[in-house]
Amino acid sequence: MFDKILIANRGEIALRVIRACREMGIRSVAVHSTADADAMHVRMADESVCIGPPPSARSYLSIPAVISACEITGADAVHPGYGFLSENATFVQALEDHGITFIGPSSEHIRIMGDKITAKETAKSLGIPVVPGSEGGVPDVAAARQLAAEIGYPVIVKATAGGGGRGMKVAKSEEDLEVAFRTARAEAKAAFGNDEVYIEKYLQRPRHIEIQVFGDGKGNAVHLAERDCSLQRRHQKVFEEAPSPAIGEAERARIGGICANAVARLGYSGAGTIEFLYEDGEFYFIEMNTRLQVEHPVTEAIFGVDLVREQIRVAEGYPLSFTQDDLVVNGHAIEVRINAEKVPGFSPCPGRITQYHAPGGLGVRMDSALFDGYTIPPYYDSLIGKLIVHGRDRPEALARLRRALNELIVDGIDTTIPLFHALLAEPDIHSGDYSIHWLEKWLARKFGS
Ligand code: ADP
Repeated sequence: MFDKILIANRGEIALRVIRACREMGIRSVAVHSTADADAMHVRMADESVCIGPPPSARSYLSIPAVISACEITGADAVHPGYGFLSENATFVQALEDHGITFIGPSSEHIRIMGDKITAKETAKSLGIPVVPGSEGGVPDVAAARQLAAEIGYPVIVKATAGGGGRGMKVAKSEEDLEVAFRTARAEAKAAFGNDEVYIEKYLQRPRHIEIQVFGDGKGNAVHLAERDCSLQRRHQKVFEEAPSPAIGEAERARIGGICANAVARLGYSGAGTIEFLYEDGEFYFIEMNTRLQVEHPVTEAIFGVDLVREQIRVAEGYPLSFTQDDLVVNGHAIEVRINAEKVPGFSPCPGRITQYHAPGGLGVRMDSALFDGYTIPPYYDSLIGKLIVHGRDRPEALARLRRALNELIVDGIDTTIPLFHALLAEPDIHSGDYSIHWLEKWLARKFGS
C-alpha cells in the first residue's frame, strides 16, 4: 500500500486525486507554483511544496522540481493527472530511476503512444481499425502530393508529436496541399520541437468516439464502453457524454472487445483511452491517450466506479477490481467544460471570482477548484470546472443538465456557461444528431465567429 502520493498537477484534477487518496487512507502531497500558493489543491492536500515560479515550464513541467518534492516529502508514488507531465516518458523514466512509482503505464507504452505514427502502427498490428493514410512520416511536398492522390482528397496533415489539436491542417484539394503541409510542419516545429508530419484521409462528418480501457499490466484488461466527444471547437472537446447516442449494444461490445484485447496483448497497465473517428458504421483509430482523460467522470457515472482509485490500486500491483461482466452501463451521463473564456470568441478571461455557487441534487457532480474570492491566474489552462450530470436516460440527463446549469453561479469573470444554455435550446443536441463539425458550424451561424 502507498503511504503518500504526490499529485503533479493543479486545479480540479488535483482535487479529484486528493479525494480518492482520502477515501483510501493515503496521505496526499500537493505541489504548486508561486501563483497557486492559495489554490484549493494546496489547501486540501495533507502537505504542499512550492516547486517554482508561475510559468509551468519552471514549475508543473519541471521534472527536477517535481522529483525533489517527492524526495523532500517522502512520497511513494506520483499521480500526474492529465496534461503537464502525464504523458512524458522522460519523467516516468526519471521516477523509475528514483524508485518512485508512477501511477500510470510504463515509460515504454507512453513512448509508443506518444509518437502518433508508432501508435498507429502498433494499433494496426493489434487488430484496431485505423484511418487510411501514409505508412509513416512524409518527408516533403512532392511525397505528400503523391500520397494524397493515392488516398484521395480531402486529406489532413498531422504532426507526429501532435496534441491538443495543434499541428493539423486540412487540404480539400491539391491546390491546398502545399500550404497545409508547410503550415502543419511549422506549427508542429513551434509547438512540439519536432516537425515530422503524416497524412490521413480526412473524414468529412465523423463522430469522435473513444473507448475507456483499463489494464492490470499482467495481460488482463477490460473496456468501460465509450464516450462521445463529438461537440468540439478547434479540435477541443466542450461537451462529452456516455454512452454515445450513435452506438448500439452490439457495436459497443465489438469495438470495446477489440480495444480490451489489444490492451491486454500490450500488457498495458492502468487507464487508457483509445480514440476513434466513427463514420458510416466504421471506427477509425486516431490516437491512444495513456492517462486519465478530462472527461473520465461520465464513464464513472454510468458504471459507478472510481477510475482514480482503480489507477492507484493497479499501480500498487493489485488485480483489477472489476471483470468485464461486472461492467454494465447504467443510464446516461453528460459533462460540460466550464472554461474561463468569453463566448463567442473564446478568449481567456482570468480574474477574480466574486461569487461561486456549485449546483447539487440527485445525479449532479461538480468538479472544480473554485471558491469565493479566488483569483484565476493567467498562466494556465482556462478549464475551471466540469459539470457532470447522470440520469436514467439521455433526456433525463439533458433535463438535469439544464436544471444544474441554472443553479451554477460563477460571477466576476466570463465563462462558457452561456454556451451550454444556448446549446440546450438546439433540437440537434436533443436528437444527438451531430458530427465533429456541428459545433463550429453552429457557432459561425449563431455568432458569425
Ligand atoms: P490531438 O492529439 O491533437 O488531440 P487527434 O489525432 O486526437 O489530435 O485529433 C483531434 C481531432 O482532430 C479529432 O477529434 C478530430 O476532430 C480531428 N481529426 C483528426 N484526424 C482526423 C481525420 N483523419 N479526419 C477528420 N478529422 C480528424
